[in-house]
Amino acid sequence: MPLPTFKGGIHPPDGKSLTKDKEVEIYSPAGELVYPMSQHLGAPCAPVVKKGDRVLIGQKLGDSDAFVSAPVLASVSGIVKDIAPRMTISGAMETCVAVENDGKYEHAAELLPHKDYESLEPKEILRIIREAGIVGMGGATFPTHVKLSPPPDRKIRWLIVNGAECEPFLNCDNRLMLEHPEPIIGGLEICMKLFPDAEGIIAIEGNKPESIRRMEGELSERRGNIRVAPHEVKYPQGAEKMLIYSVTGQEIPPGALPADVGCIVLNVSTASHIWQAVVDGVPVVERVISVTGDVIANPKNISAPLGTSVRELIDLCGGFTEPPAKVLSGGPMMGISMRSIDVPTVKGTSGILALSRRASQSLHESNCIRCGRCVESCPMKLVPTTLDLLVRRREYAEFESEGGMNCIECGCCTYSCPARRYLTQTCRDGKAGVMAARRKAESQRKG
Ligand code: SF4
Ligand code: SF4
Repeated sequence: MPLPTFKGGIHPPDGKSLTKDKEVEIYSPAGELVYPMSQHLGAPCAPVVKKGDRVLIGQKLGDSDAFVSAPVLASVSGIVKDIAPRMTISGAMETCVAVENDGKYEHAAELLPHKDYESLEPKEILRIIREAGIVGMGGATFPTHVKLSPPPDRKIRWLIVNGAECEPFLNCDNRLMLEHPEPIIGGLEICMKLFPDAEGIIAIEGNKPESIRRMEGELSERRGNIRVAPHEVKYPQGAEKMLIYSVTGQEIPPGALPADVGCIVLNVSTASHIWQAVVDGVPVVERVISVTGDVIANPKNISAPLGTSVRELIDLCGGFTEPPAKVLSGGPMMGISMRSIDVPTVKGTSGILALSRRASQSLHESNCIRCGRCVESCPMKLVPTTLDLLVRRREYAEFESEGGMNCIECGCCTYSCPARRYLTQTCRDGKAGVMAARRKAESQRKG
């Protein structure tokens, strides 16, 4: 029987063999670690330390009063040596706190372990998740305590752990499922306490049979309403809307949220961090990163403290075999092209991908030949060639009425286009154009 999936999508070369079988290496950097105050969707944090302060692992460096935000925590012990704007992984200059690692790795006792987590009230679980700085670790970085607080009239029927990891080249989630399945399942069990009527589902693409077996083996020794659901291998299977459709058959209407159709989706690393925070009292201070690509000498999966320099991680992999044409934060489909590798890793850094000119296929675009491949591949049922035209003409209102704001920037249209049209980029520009027009209208309305 075919495995469940969604309509549209593509099958790019997966590049996963470079790090698929590499066990996660733990790295402890020396020297300076740098922490941007905005590592999540929502309000950025403001520093709560000052130059010269000594900080411990897990101590807050930045926080915000806003509900949609998450604190930034020190991942090493040491002295705060600088608070100033620095370049971040996105290429933007943002306020960062720099800490000189003293190599002592002393922990703050800010979060307490709760081995008896079953007795915790939902409110207390959500408080711990927030204080631990947990956000969507798959790259979306939406604060997890907010995601787990849907409006009271939304009945959550499915809690889905996203182990699809459909982005080519990346293996951080796969390695976590293979090497540490228990905290992932434990984190899901904690979330099911918040939504006792929900079914727990761990969704994994069919190209990870060992992870599927490992998770199923772990579940066979437990009782509870959790199952593993293998899915067809197709990009972007791990995108939230596609995964929800594949698992439940529910389509999320434009402008609606997963909770509106009874779903909450968490990345495997997010679930694991929930367990570590609630049960062990360990906040988000490190993450697994796949450092990979055809010009990385010895690609690896590395667990490193947040704030570690990208250059250091690349050096740990033996450096570049030739100058890269492109270095991306994330995978080749949805990753961000980096302007510099002298920037720190953050909560959403799932991969560092360095590609040669051969592998990055950065060709020049030509005229549309009206083949329709972009339309067939679009998982959001959009017409990318029309959206592209509208954006190039700056007709943002029409772009919006053609559904352009529903674009998830997955890159399928660009990948499938024989004319190499920059379709994803024009959609991105179109969305930015609509947002700018809305802001302008709002400020005119206020007078
Ligand atoms: S980038 Fe946007 S328009 Fe292109 S395939 Fe993905 S969702 Fe569709
Ligand atoms: S895939 Fe490219 S060439 Fe084909 S219709 Fe779409 S934009 Fe035009």
